Amino acid sequence: MLTNDDGIHAPGLWAAAQALSQVGEVCVVAPDREQSGVGASLTLHAPVVARSLEIPALERLSAAANEEAGSPDGQQAEIRHRVTAFSVEGTPGDSCILGLEKLVGPVDLVVSGINRGSNLGWDVMVSGTVGAAFQGYFRGYPTIAISVGSVQNPRFDGAASLLRLLAQKLDQDGKKDAFLLNVNVPSLAPDQITGVEITRSGGRSYGESVREEGTGHQKRYWIARNRPVMADNGEGTDMNAAKNNRISITPLHLNLSHQEMLPRVETLLAGVPEALLGKGG
Ligand code: MN
Repeated sequence: MLTNDDGIHAPGLWAAAQALSQVGEVCVVAPDREQSGVGASLTLHAPVVARSLEIPALERLSAAANEEAGSPDGQQAEIRHRVTAFSVEGTPGDSCILGLEKLVGPVDLVVSGINRGSNLGWDVMVSGTVGAAFQGYFRGYPTIAISVGSVQNPRFDGAASLLRLLAQKLDQDGKKDAFLLNVNVPSLAPDQITGVEITRSGGRSYGESVREEGTGHQKRYWIARNRPVMADNGEGTDMNAAKNNRISITPLHLNLSHQEMLPRVETLLAGVPEALLGKGG
């Protein structure tokens, strides 16, 4: 099953669909519009509408994506025979849940992407690409979130080839263990990519800035993630690999607890349980 956060029209999604359709059946379940930055959010207070795409619509999307990405028009046959698709009026997380629980059912692999723009370091907290992928991981599937390092004129061919190779390897090894890989591929011609590195998440890569519009009582504020902050981008991090034009593969899990902080919190809490619960002191 394939999803994303750039929306069902995104060239990166169809580059992934084409690559994966060379390995097996692909079902695309993706938001009907741009949803970048929504993280793992879910629609819990309204119904979520999903529409299945007819083959002509699917082929149009795929061909348009090919054209935008400047790739050859070679894989339309696989798209016709091995790909089905649903467009979801919801978040990436909604799409992944709908796909796995209802529209597609058990699958061999969950892929989210190929995202336009990298998801490095702390970006995984706001990334819809990774947010959707968590739903695959929570449900016990091998899951890959995959992004390319450029928002402007991204190249998807390297990432698409990697995706095909990984899907083939998973198919061969036959294990069905749950994992989540956050993969970032340089937006370069494959012969310019300098290596493949297994990494840990780095620190913060972007800070937010706010632009104000309007006067008087009502103002509008635009939040933009346009301030590069490079914290913890040393050797072994995803950001370091990206900086050196290497593919970064970071296995993720979801344990945010901060072990080293426990003594500090204990000090902070001295006397609090007694004061709160009226016992002892
Ligand atoms: Mn995106």
